[in-house]
Amino acid sequence: MTQQFDYDLVVIGAGSGGVRLSRMSAGRGARVAVVENRYLGGTCVNVGCVPKKLFVYGAHIHDELEDAAGYGWRLSTDHGQFDWPTLVANKNTEIERLNGIYRRLLEGAGVEIIEGTARLTDSHTLVVGDRVVTAERIAIATGGWPFLPNIPGKEYLLTSNEMFYLPQLPGEAVVWGGGYIAVEFAGILAGLGVRTTLIYRGDLFLRGFDDDVRQFVATEMRKKGVDLRFNVNIESVAPGERGYHLLLSDGSTLDTGLVMAATGRRPLTDGLGLDALGVAMDKQGYIQVNDDFQTSMPSVYALGDVIGTPQLTPVALAQAMVLSRRLYGDGQGSMDYKMIPTAVFCQPPIGTVGLTEAEARERTDNIKVFRTEFRPMKYTMSGRDERCLMKLVVDGDSDKVLGAHMVGADAGEIIQGLAVAIKAGATKADFDGTLGIHPTSAEEFVTMREPVAP
Ligand code: NDP
Repeated sequence: MTQQFDYDLVVIGAGSGGVRLSRMSAGRGARVAVVENRYLGGTCVNVGCVPKKLFVYGAHIHDELEDAAGYGWRLSTDHGQFDWPTLVANKNTEIERLNGIYRRLLEGAGVEIIEGTARLTDSHTLVVGDRVVTAERIAIATGGWPFLPNIPGKEYLLTSNEMFYLPQLPGEAVVWGGGYIAVEFAGILAGLGVRTTLIYRGDLFLRGFDDDVRQFVATEMRKKGVDLRFNVNIESVAPGERGYHLLLSDGSTLDTGLVMAATGRRPLTDGLGLDALGVAMDKQGYIQVNDDFQTSMPSVYALGDVIGTPQLTPVALAQAMVLSRRLYGDGQGSMDYKMIPTAVFCQPPIGTVGLTEAEARERTDNIKVFRTEFRPMKYTMSGRDERCLMKLVVDGDSDKVLGAHMVGADAGEIIQGLAVAIKAGATKADFDGTLGIHPTSAEEFVTMREPVAP
């Protein structure tokens, strides 16, 4: 490491990937600074995974209160009373606590935190306010930002960023989009008592997930009262009597109290000066990197949501650990993007790992599908009409389990465990030879004996 630069490594962006890269590299003896212009912890901690999950817990209590009656609990009001400002305030306190932990982790590792917006002026130099900083290596981990379609009234659209700080909850809301964020927020809003409509331009939301899962979630969300409208899009938004007046692509109109766009995210590279330096980006603006996370400018690296790999915190963390090890460790390690488990925290939630049935069928003709759906034990007494889906996709030749999919309570928790086995190459015979834990929902994953008819 050379003393000719102020730092060995300057990381731009203190989100999941940037913080992990900074800490690990400083721990290996590098002189590291991280530049951040917003909040420590990035999207995940501030306006993503963490506050979302807290809201999901809050929303799910609605179901718990309803289920209580069947178990003999008499509550003072039918559904209790919910106070949105309390949820937001307590969430904010928790996020501030996490911001503090991130600061202490960075400082404890010897990383200097530079507050401000960085602009690269050459391959080893960046400017932050009136400060010029040089580094042997620069790593960009600036993440992504919500994308809004360019429609009349775009300025009235809220994104997930604002939803986390909404002062009041309206009586009715429209969620626009059919990806992770749209279905998660539709579940949160509906659970908190908001009459919720989800508008998605395609035939069925959650494109890319197993088709059974998509259908199943649609059915369950409708049972919970979410008005799912597919094959329709929003053409314009204007102020209206109930808040906002929407014109839809089928010519119909809709009045609602709030419109949240969850129409995807884009890489956040504005102001970094990458164009001027000729750092290669793809058509959507994602920074292009090689397997070593090196951009077209060899001293500049990039990782996380800004490079267009799966936009998941554990992916950014793994990338950071690989990069740090390669730069300042034993030089080994590489990313493996196969079999990334994921969960969608809609209600009921989805957990999934590996190939969907359709993906598996594209690869080989000899596929066996094991599928079960049932009403979880808890709901038999509470009377809740909610079902659970479990599905295994198996290679008929090798007997290897190629994919596992679940919709139902704790799906993320259950699939995380199965993901270890499946990544390690477990066969259906291994699943069959594993005893269940009784009584659980998860035991169904090891007791499915007969494949569904092709
Ligand atoms: P997604 O890319 O998952 O979904 C975007 C949705 O918006 C799609 O349904 C897409 O439709 C639709 N859309 C895009 N452009 C338009 C348009 N012009 N008009 C109408 N609809 C449009 O993005 P999200 O914002 O939901 O999430 C971003 C990423 O963040 C996710 O992909 C995921 O990686 C990550 N994430 C992960 C979570 C988790 O792990 N639980 C939770 C939240 C986010 P179409 O399908 O037709 O393209």
